Amino acid sequence: MTGEPQSEAELHPSMGEEPKSEAPIPVRSLRELIDRVTGRGFQPVQPVEESGLAELLPFPFLALVGQSEMKLALLLALINPAVGGVLLVGPRGTGKTTAVRSLVDLLPEVTRSLCYYGCLPEDVETGGIDAICPDCARKYAQGEPLAKMDRVRLVELPLNARLEDVVGGLDERAVVHQRMRLKRGILAQADRNLLYVDEVNLLEDDVVDSLLDAAAQGSYTVRRGPVSATYWSRFVLIGSMNPEEGGLRPQIQDRFGLRVVVRPLEESGERMEAYRRVQTYRTNPRQVIATYAPETALVQAEVQLARENLPKVTLPDKVATQGLNLIARLRIESLRAEITLFEAARAHSAADGRLEVTPGDLRAVAPLALRLRRSGFMQEYFARHSEEEAELDGLINTTLPN
Ligand SMILES: [Zn+2]
Repeated sequence: MTGEPQSEAELHPSMGEEPKSEAPIPVRSLRELIDRVTGRGFQPVQPVEESGLAELLPFPFLALVGQSEMKLALLLALINPAVGGVLLVGPRGTGKTTAVRSLVDLLPEVTRSLCYYGCLPEDVETGGIDAICPDCARKYAQGEPLAKMDRVRLVELPLNARLEDVVGGLDERAVVHQRMRLKRGILAQADRNLLYVDEVNLLEDDVVDSLLDAAAQGSYTVRRGPVSATYWSRFVLIGSMNPEEGGLRPQIQDRFGLRVVVRPLEESGERMEAYRRVQTYRTNPRQVIATYAPETALVQAEVQLARENLPKVTLPDKVATQGLNLIARLRIESLRAEITLFEAARAHSAADGRLEVTPGDLRAVAPLALRLRRSGFMQEYFARHSEEEAELDGLINTTLPN
């Protein structure tokens, strides 16, 4: 069941073979690398006749001008799925969807089960041989692989998805043969992948509820008449929304770990550069992608390395106390605040090539983890946003040492 295209909702990396680096790449500051490449002068390329495939080729992540908070949040979620996903809030035309789709070239590899039930070797290590299916138990005993390395995929949940598409339902093809069988829904396809929901504020309530339950539990069960099945659904949820088109229920908003308020580029030089890049890309996407390909491969390798180092990154008690003080002073009640704050800080530390969280890591991720956590409704959020940002900045300055 794995490795096969499951539906058209699934996006595949369209770059083909990735350039593989020969020498091991030293860990360095991922943020520094991205800021440097993103801010680099960009030479317009020569126009060439193109076949109109621009929509299928993602715009390079590193060619996105500005929006450093959005880039940081997305990278932290790639490095550490435990940050609990990302919510991008902003008006149309600020590059939210482009940024998410551009992640396909940076996605790390994960171990993916070869079995329909999702059995993994680590299940045996934690739960013994009974934790996997009989077929896999036999393979395990004979030393056959249960999993392979595979790139994380970007799965998109379309706005018009019905509950049945999302959780899965009866397989009509099987019914023709008078058998009852369930087919996997989008949530099961998203296991160990990124799940992107554009206009998350406009989804039907039952779809949102099933999405959030599956995300919280990491698995879900479908029952249709006499048949039922349980699927893994350990995905990183990325949502985007335009607040002009409607609010988001407070309990839904709380489920997102990191929050970015994406504002339009303000500086005219930046806007000009963004315009030139997009124009050049429309004319000749392949050449723009090629321009950024070496650094894109480097960032992808660094994300992978940061992910591998993440389990070793520790949070000293003293730093944890500073973070908890900040949350207490902001009067945030949700326990998700500290989980996200600390997991994002660990990812930030790993991205920087360090194995211990510092107050600097907390400072870097605190606005992402803690903003939009207190108030009840989007309208209120926006009215109070500027005030909160100022207060947050002030408290970060007085609570966390430099
Ligand atoms: Zn199995």
